[in-house]
Amino acid sequence: MIDYPVPLGRPKIGSSGLTGHWRLMRPEIDYSKCTKCRLCVIYCPENTIDLLEGFDVRIDYDYCKGCGVCAQICPQKAIQMVPEVK
Ligand code: SF4
Ligand code: SF4
Repeated sequence: MIDYPVPLGRPKIGSSGLTGHWRLMRPEIDYSKCTKCRLCVIYCPENTIDLLEGFDVRIDYDYCKGCGVCAQICPQKAIQMVPEVK
């Protein structure tokens, strides 16, 4: 994972556990459409999309709340929100 030169907060385990556990919708990336533009990384309000070597992106489902901002911002429509299966 690439470290940013600016301090960005990361979510932590709260009193009710991992925030990803109460997610109702789940973002899924279609990597065949992803152009590695990194907009989803920048706009995720929880900073739960990791930037990997080669500018691949990966969602940390332990903390993603399923807000859908990444799916809205993705210019390639590469992220779809699907119902979380519990
Ligand atoms: S916003 Fe979309 S195209 Fe850009 S890196 Fe994220 S998933 Fe890929
Ligand atoms: S659904 Fe929301 S919290 Fe989860 S990765 Fe996308 S923008 Fe971040």
